[in-house]
Amino acid sequence: MEDDARPAARLVVLSGPSGVGKDSVIELIRARSPWVWLSVSVTTRPKRDYEVDGVHYTFVSRPEFERMVASGQLLEWAEFAGNLYGTPRAPVEARLAAGIPVLLKIDLQGARQVRQAMPDALLVFLAPPSPEELKRRLIGRGTEDEETVRRRLEHADEELAAEPEFDVTVVNDYVERAADELVGLLGSPLLTPAHHRRN
Ligand code: 5GP
Repeated sequence: MEDDARPAARLVVLSGPSGVGKDSVIELIRARSPWVWLSVSVTTRPKRDYEVDGVHYTFVSRPEFERMVASGQLLEWAEFAGNLYGTPRAPVEARLAAGIPVLLKIDLQGARQVRQAMPDALLVFLAPPSPEELKRRLIGRGTEDEETVRRRLEHADEELAAEPEFDVTVVNDYVERAADELVGLLGSPLLTPAHHRRN
């Protein structure tokens, strides 16, 4: 396929096991690649201190979330650790129609729903350098009791097993490298600078 024939914008879905570092990769892309539009999910989970409503998530009540589901406003949604998370459909469709690359960071159940709803989406699995490394990171958090850690480790095996369902695997060995690879998958920005800036 010729380069010119490649669509300028595409929908990329970033998913992967919890603890693999999706948030760090996303934060780097937010800082360095402002031409990529990061979808803002709605969630019923309480806001964390560092989060900004409307930037990291839109925080809503459970009844509000349920209304959005009932009226078909969500492209996909899922329950994760007792909280509801979903992707508002209209903003994603508007960006894609305007030719802006869109990146969604969602859990595995959500990725499967996007596959159904938007078959052209590119599904990316963010993988740890090895299963052992993921488990070390999960244990290393040190904030949870033994039972929670045991459940997380069991869940990690299930999540790692989903990798073959994805179009591409990006290994999160170094967050900068993983973010660059992911941005590369989104194609090039519509307006590339005429000259590279010298440092
Ligand atoms: P956290 O509460 O740590 O921000 O996110 C918990 C999990 O929910 C992560 O795996 C994250 O990718 C996932 N998540 C965030 N937003 C969405 C969404 O809109 N839809 C789905 N299905 N999962 C989401």
